[in-house]
Parts: sequence; structure tokens; C-alpha cells
Amino acid sequence: MRGVSAKEEARRWAEEVHRAGGRVALVPTMGFLHRGHAALIEAGVHTGAQVAVSVFVTPLQFGPREDLAHYPLDAVRDREVARGAGAALLFTPDPEEMYPEGFATRVEVAGLSERWCGAARPGHFQGVATVVTKLLNLFRPDEAYFGEKDYQQLVLLRRLARDLDFGCRVVGVPTVREEDGLALSSRNAYLSPEERRRARAIPAALAAAAAAHARGERDAEELRRAALQVLKGAPGVRVEYVAVVDPETLEPLEAVRGPVRMLLAAWVGSTRLIDNRFLAGA
Ligand code: AMP
Repeated sequence: MRGVSAKEEARRWAEEVHRAGGRVALVPTMGFLHRGHAALIEAGVHTGAQVAVSVFVTPLQFGPREDLAHYPLDAVRDREVARGAGAALLFTPDPEEMYPEGFATRVEVAGLSERWCGAARPGHFQGVATVVTKLLNLFRPDEAYFGEKDYQQLVLLRRLARDLDFGCRVVGVPTVREEDGLALSSRNAYLSPEERRRARAIPAALAAAAAAHARGERDAEELRRAALQVLKGAPGVRVEYVAVVDPETLEPLEAVRGPVRMLLAAWVGSTRLIDNRFLAGA
């Protein structure tokens, strides 16, 4: 696996892969790689593509009072996980390389960026869309892989790739979870052992809604209530939102007809966690 931190080296690498007749797959990350990131890399490797992993904690997507300065870092582990999953290139640019002095452009996906996590974190999705646009321009990948864990981000980036004619397929990869159901996340590192136990309520809330759905419940408010009941029973867990949404537009629904997504954000102590689940079937 090659490691580069200059944009031009990254661009040249991708051009060489394409010139040799290969396909380029891109996996953008903020580092502190875990099995969830590895699943994205492996999904690309599995198709025969040369996979580039970017590790960049993008300042634009953090609000002024958010955890950028404390975001966990482990460059050695990042290399190990990326190499172990079969990545061909690890791109680790500095903030100055990505946002040199005078950088003034922002990319906004209207509508999709405003709801749910966008409402709680103003500017967040603009930061994500801007950095992903830059990465897609640098690598010109044939496919880009994103986790379903960040479902709103996945939907929004699909829209971005389509709207801006990147000609790149945006592939969603199912959420990788711990044994007790908690979605793997770099932010889980912030949780104390007690908070980690309490965080179990998040996947349990989604499971309660899925069980109600499987019993035939089709009223979105009732499905939300099933999830909220579990969260309210968990001490130290504060709900930010629980929503039943159309899986493509992310608009909230009242009645459930066909497959829908439940989205959830909650604070466990001072850590904000998100998760979601498909509600489908009989
Ligand atoms: P992050 O480093 O948290 O920005 O995540 C980088 C990519 O990995 C995003 O596309 C995430 O959705 C994805 N990802 C993070 N956690 C998981 C997980 N537990 N399962 C699958 N994908 C994940």
C-alpha cells in the first residue's frame, strides 16, 4: 500500500490506475479506522478495483463548539487497518493541502442538508459535500463507498454525484456493529464503560421499532413511540431526534407504505451518536 499526502501524487496515482485499465474506488474517512471502515474498503477490493482511502479530518464539517480538536487519531492503526483490508493507496493530506489560504468555495446540497443532523449541526453537510467534491475531482473514482451508518450523508452524496455529473457510482455499505448491536464509530472511543453500556439503548430502540413494524404497526408516530420508550428508559441518554423517513428524500412520513428508514440521534453523556435502520417486510 502506498501512502501519499500531496494532492498531485494522489491525482497521478489514480490516473495511472486508469491508464493501466484499472478501476479506482474511493473510501473517504476521517481516520481512526475500525472494522466499519474496513468493510467499505473490502467492498471495493471485492469488485477488483484499486481502492484509495483518504484520511482527513475536515475542519469545515465541524461546528465551532464541536469536537474537532479532540477527534481521535491513530495514524499507525489507520495504516494497519487500510492495508489489512486491501487498500492500494492511503491519502493523508494536511488541512493546508486541502484548504490553502484563500480557499473560498462551498458546495451545498439544498434541502437534504438542512434536516435531521443538518439541523443540529449547521454547516456540517456543506463541509462534507465540499471535501467529497474535492476528493471526487482528485481521484475521478469509478465508485465511491460510504457507510449506511451515516445514512443522511449517503443519500446526500448520492444526490451530489448525480447533480454534479461526477459519473461515479455511490455505493452504500451496511452498518458494521458490535456484538450488542451498537454501530461501530470512531466516537465510541469517547464513551466511559458506563456510557458504553447505556449506548446499547440506541440499537435497542431501533430494534423495538422494527419489532413493532414487523407486528404490523404502520403509524409512524407509534413506531417513533416504540423507539422513544426504550431511549427514555435509559439513564444518561438524551434523544436529539427519532424520525421515520422516506429512504430517498428523507422527508418525514406519517403513515408507512413500503420500505422506510428510521433515523436516530442521541447524546450519551457528552458524546453524540447516530444510527438508523431499514423498516421493511411484512
Ligand atoms: P468517518 O471516518 O466516521 O467519517 O466514516 C467514514 C466512512 O465510514 C463513512 O462513509 C461512514 O459512513 C463509514 N462508517 C463509519 N462507521 C461505520 C460502520 N460502523 N459501518 C459501516 N460504515 C461505517
